[in-house]
Amino acid sequence: MVKETEYYDILGVKPSAAPEEIKKAYRKLALKYHPDKNPDEGEKFKLISQAYEVLSDPKKREIYDQGGEQAIKEGGLGSPNFSSPMDIFDMFFGGGGRMARERRGKNVVHQLSVTLEDLYNGVTKKLALQKNIICEKCEGVGGKKGSVEKCPLCKGRGMQVHIQQIGPGMVQQIQTVCIECKGQGERINPKDRCEGCEGAKVVREKKIIEVHVDKGMKDGQKIVFHGEGDQEPELEPGDVIIVLDQKDHSVFQRRGHDLIMKMKIQLSEALCGFKKTIQTLDERVLVITSKSGEVVKHGDLKCVRNEGMPIYKAPLEKGSLIIQFLVIFPEKHWLPPDRLSQLEALLPPRQKVRVTEDMDQVELQEFDPNDQSWRQHREAYEEDDDGPRAGVQCQTA
Ligand SMILES: [Zn+2]
Ligand SMILES: [Zn+2]
Repeated sequence: MVKETEYYDILGVKPSAAPEEIKKAYRKLALKYHPDKNPDEGEKFKLISQAYEVLSDPKKREIYDQGGEQAIKEGGLGSPNFSSPMDIFDMFFGGGGRMARERRGKNVVHQLSVTLEDLYNGVTKKLALQKNIICEKCEGVGGKKGSVEKCPLCKGRGMQVHIQQIGPGMVQQIQTVCIECKGQGERINPKDRCEGCEGAKVVREKKIIEVHVDKGMKDGQKIVFHGEGDQEPELEPGDVIIVLDQKDHSVFQRRGHDLIMKMKIQLSEALCGFKKTIQTLDERVLVITSKSGEVVKHGDLKCVRNEGMPIYKAPLEKGSLIIQFLVIFPEKHWLPPDRLSQLEALLPPRQKVRVTEDMDQVELQEFDPNDQSWRQHREAYEEDDDGPRAGVQCQTA
């Protein structure tokens, strides 16, 4: 048992979640609440990041499970401080270190929804993105060449100083970033401003990128488009990172290179053998046949080699298709009692019990674990002294 579940709740996973589930939950939430997409959810983004930072580290997770948030904050592992949510995000999505970021524009991460069929067969998807590009008209200057001048408002300092009277004979100086040049210290004279970008140096453009999803790629895999991020003057553009997000499939579950499915079979098939068909992810039909005379038990696992997922970069090789059999038993009283002996003659012999007089013969009833009436009866009986009120309470409990 864990002490607290808050970090797990933030990520929407159970305390028993495997590391991959925690990674997946972070991936989805971090992309959803990243300030680029959800500028008003900064606090939520921070909480997601903190929860992930703790739960993704086996040592920190153990400390949290035992002692809760308090134990993490007291810091059994040196620093009690959390990393910046942006650093966690960049580390997760491969945004490069802080140094690289200073000379490069930031990376943009997008999620691309794919089906299991897409990952099995490979697919090319077109994605429309909005990005900033350097204005062609002014080549990123923002106006006519030579139209850049010292900002007249702040005299090139980039800051404005306001004097505020806060009491008799008392003034306060407040410094703010200059509104005219936004702290740059220089501006483009309004009459020379570029008409293409209105002085912004960049313009917004729609760009279509083609994402090639190769056979065998997996949920969470990243596809990087180098230098396709927003352009900014004097900065190398960052990357566009596409993260694959696989939708659940109605039949198959993927585990590594293997595909897993459940198959229902009738009791007759489990005992006497069967032939069944399976539709593959590339729309072929496989026929599976059980060995004659072999009994397949409820829950048995069998596999078909080379019918799992194609292996990334070696798509001619495939994993296995694993089938778990679920045996459907016949409904109650499916066979007239007078014919039971025929069936019994074919089945393994029944166990014989010798009943003696000192044994108690009792009645066997259906049991429904959700039906609490047997317990209520007992409670009502135990509280019999209280009369009808106790009875009413028991019924509504
Ligand atoms: Zn200024
Ligand atoms: Zn321009």
